[in-house]
Amino acid sequence: MKVFKFGGASVKNAEGVRNLYNIVRSQNEKLVIVVSAMGKVTNALEDVLNSFFNRKPDLDANIQTIVDYHEGIVSGLFSDRTDIDAKLELLYSELREITRHKPSLSYDYEYDRIVSFGEIISTTIVAAFIKSQGEKAEFVDIRSSLKTDDNYREGNVNMELSNQLICEAFNFDGVDYYITQGFIAGTITNQTTTLGREGSDYTAAILANLLNAESVVIWKDVPGVMNADPKRYAEVVVIPKLSYKEAIELSYCGASVIHPKTVKPLQNKKIPLCVKSFVDPTQEGSIINEFSFKLELPPVYINKANQVLLTLTPRDFSFIAEEKLSKIFAILASYRLKVSLIQTSAISFSLCIDHNPAIFKNLVTELQDEYEVLYNTDVELITIRHYTKEIVDKLVGEKLVFVEQRNRLTARFVVSE
Ligand code: ASP
Ligand code: MG
Repeated sequence: MKVFKFGGASVKNAEGVRNLYNIVRSQNEKLVIVVSAMGKVTNALEDVLNSFFNRKPDLDANIQTIVDYHEGIVSGLFSDRTDIDAKLELLYSELREITRHKPSLSYDYEYDRIVSFGEIISTTIVAAFIKSQGEKAEFVDIRSSLKTDDNYREGNVNMELSNQLICEAFNFDGVDYYITQGFIAGTITNQTTTLGREGSDYTAAILANLLNAESVVIWKDVPGVMNADPKRYAEVVVIPKLSYKEAIELSYCGASVIHPKTVKPLQNKKIPLCVKSFVDPTQEGSIINEFSFKLELPPVYINKANQVLLTLTPRDFSFIAEEKLSKIFAILASYRLKVSLIQTSAISFSLCIDHNPAIFKNLVTELQDEYEVLYNTDVELITIRHYTKEIVDKLVGEKLVFVEQRNRLTARFVVSE
């Protein structure tokens, strides 16, 4: 048994769903198929959420955009639409019903309730389509068996509790293909949670771990794990083999190819992860696994744009020591900010985070209680793995460098954009 994951780009239109089915059917394999919301539906649902939560007049129009988009896909897939239309109509009325009431006071709770519709709708369509082709396929609502705590928008998965429920739900009794949602989960009281944006890869890895899958394949619009973003660099190559360690470092540094949480559940059970192209499935792609020999890796470039560099200096000239650091991190965590890089000296602490204008002012004001806060917006974090001096000179030579860190394998620079 294998786990396949298809992201939003792979199912952004009817042709994409047909292509998914062609890939699935060519495998001769029992599969758990994890699907994300179609195209950019998660973003569109964030708009719905914001108009719902802030009582804005564009709510109905925002919901209609989502209905129309899926309608376009469904009309290209089914000749008999009775069943699928009834199922989708139920989901749309559920969404409308939720938004007709006053939202609770928790933005994060409402976020998960609303945004999860993207995955529920996409899997409803994909499952119905695969079934309509005469396959033994089944839709599973993952929220009943993948259990998290109630940390909305970034639920922590309870592996022990999920283990039995997942094995029961995916027992392959008379079923060849299960179609289920990435990214979403449920609490023990059956509230909907999500695992963080782009979290479907992580779902696939958890399911593979709990079901002891032979492997996971993530189907992408790129031919594998590349050594740089092809939209940015002229000469990029696919890296055919990577260790789990290399993959976790790359994704942590901001390589967008897989969600950073994906590697651990796979590494823990030594399950290989393949990254392949849904555009051309005949290409080999990349394999992330444990290898007994040393891998030759090309230099890897990761550019994280839209960062902000903050420098904090205690107003009373005290050292930045453990207690102060833990307080700073608690503040950052309360804004759900992930720190990409830190640097300390006796009385100053610099850190690089994603620039989110919606919360930035409040964050700075809170930090200003104890610190003098200086910051540079419009900075970029460049990470080079397996660097050479020539590469560094070429890439950052001309740039204004604010922070620089190097170890044996990795060089990181915060530079002006
Ligand atoms: N649909 C979710 C998102 O866009 C999850 C995912 O795509 O992995 O963030
Ligand atoms: Mg996605």
